[in-house]
Amino acid sequence: MTVREPAWTEQDRAEILALALYRSRLCPLHGGPLDECTSPEETGAQFSAERSTCRARLTLIEAQRAADDGKKPSPYAGARLWTVKRRG
Ligand SMILES: [Zn+2]
Repeated sequence: MTVREPAWTEQDRAEILALALYRSRLCPLHGGPLDECTSPEETGAQFSAERSTCRARLTLIEAQRAADDGKKPSPYAGARLWTVKRRG
């Protein structure tokens, strides 16, 4: 009989359960605590929104548009693999 090391230690299991519990309390829409954003508007947390741009994603969108050369995207465009790398 072969005795193998378990792939997950007790510590691993405890940590993954704690992470799952933490994530279950986060809002799937904005990523913050669910109890905050679903609290009563009159008595709960207040929010403000700001807009910024992910320049890495912007670069990707620009490259994808350039690849289509102003034409309608190829029906195979969804199969293309793109990567964005940081320069400098
Ligand atoms: Zn939310």
